[in-house]
Amino acid sequence: MITVLKFGGTSVGSADAFLRSAKIIIGGEGGRVAIVSAMSGVTNHLIQFLETDSLPADDSIALLIKKHMDVANELLSGKILKSFTAEFNNRINALRDLLNDKRSRSDPFFNDDISSRGERLSTLLLAHVIMSLGRESVAMTSEEAGIYAIGSPGFGTADLEKTSAGLMMNVKPLVLRGIIPIITGFYGRNDDGKPLTFGRGGSDYSAAVVTNGLDADCLEIWTDVDGFMSADPRIVPEAIMIDEMNFGEAAELAYFGAKVLHPRTIEPVRMKHIPLKVRNSFKPESPGTLIHNLRAPKNDMLRSVSMKSDLSIITVSSSEIAYRPRMVARIIDKIADAGVILYAISTSLSTVAFLIHTLDVKETLKHLNLLGPENIVERIDVKSNMALISAVGDNLLERCGVSAEIFGAVNEAGANVEMISEGASDVSLNFIVPTDKAVAVVRSLHKKFVGGTG
Ligand code: ADP
Ligand code: ASP
Ligand code: MG
Repeated sequence: MITVLKFGGTSVGSADAFLRSAKIIIGGEGGRVAIVSAMSGVTNHLIQFLETDSLPADDSIALLIKKHMDVANELLSGKILKSFTAEFNNRINALRDLLNDKRSRSDPFFNDDISSRGERLSTLLLAHVIMSLGRESVAMTSEEAGIYAIGSPGFGTADLEKTSAGLMMNVKPLVLRGIIPIITGFYGRNDDGKPLTFGRGGSDYSAAVVTNGLDADCLEIWTDVDGFMSADPRIVPEAIMIDEMNFGEAAELAYFGAKVLHPRTIEPVRMKHIPLKVRNSFKPESPGTLIHNLRAPKNDMLRSVSMKSDLSIITVSSSEIAYRPRMVARIIDKIADAGVILYAISTSLSTVAFLIHTLDVKETLKHLNLLGPENIVERIDVKSNMALISAVGDNLLERCGVSAEIFGAVNEAGANVEMISEGASDVSLNFIVPTDKAVAVVRSLHKKFVGGTG
């Protein structure tokens, strides 16, 4: 039996957190493999350095050294501290060289390389903390473990087949010998050996990919909340923990904004029917949420509500567009050329409207402007500051009149619904409201359908 455990930034955010997470890792039965994020704040710090270039490399690095060495000095001693410090210094020196090397900045994967450096430090530290507790452990980079990725910088997708072969060769033999591999989350290596990140929060996806590749028996995502909740507890303090969910519900919620899981976490485990648990590393006694294949026993009307902001609606108008399916196809084609994600789409007699991330608007308009003269576009409108609300419940849409009840609650929050996408998935009802009303809508839905004072 192999369990893959993933620890997010706050679960390795301090000496106490490192120790708690290390104990969770060594506390269970069978083979254990951990995937680890950077210490909390470290990835933001590295990205800020890339974006502003405000801090000289040495100041920026001094902060990273202090953060990690404070924990090391508190938890490690003797030979283990010495071995950690030696390798930590190597990694810090490599980072310093990279930051100071102006030529490497022209490499398209430079930002991915820098932003993923935090994971190479946290894994090293955690492996040494585990060793100090008397268990054999080894820190492995994604390159060493054999996590392969394809795609453009910042938007990696794992190559599951190649990764599985890599993990079976590099990681599985260690696990069989009782050693605990601690692997960097957040990125894989591309075919040229360059680091390619999976997007912010990507360590959840890394963990799912490793679970898939090792044919592990269970994935445990250890984070800073009790489990998957009925809403983001930062928005709805009375949100309740969900004991059990099926893959479909969790996948929709993660895709549509529930930050507790990276949007792509579910697929690699769902395809092999491997159960996933979301658990609180600050409260290991709490059972957490089990996400699996089975239909959840409770037939609640609404299980969870999520919101995703920073979206825009683009509306293309052309007379009787509905009778010209080829034109609709060409519009979609242009969006595909722009390489953007379509979160929703809806049509009327003379318009096609679609929802995309606001950062993608410029590129999308550039491609739409390439539509040939035969298409006769009358107007293109952009509405920004939109948020997508996703109401998810297994069997949600089987219940008669559910939409009316949901939109009643939206109305009570004083929001106008700008676009609806009902029925595209049988577990979710998605609609768009102005961003400034989104929090009120989430609270209103939660209060009416889940409970609490919202
Ligand atoms: P980690 O660093 O462990 O990956 P994240 O900050 O990425 O942690 O994700 C955990 C956070 O996700 C929680 O602190 C919570 O505020 C937020 N969150 C959003 N939606 C949900 C939800 N439905 N259930 C639980 N947490 C949620
Ligand atoms: N450290 C990365 C980030 O902050 C990956 C992760 O936390 O999952 O986005
Ligand atoms: Mg996360």
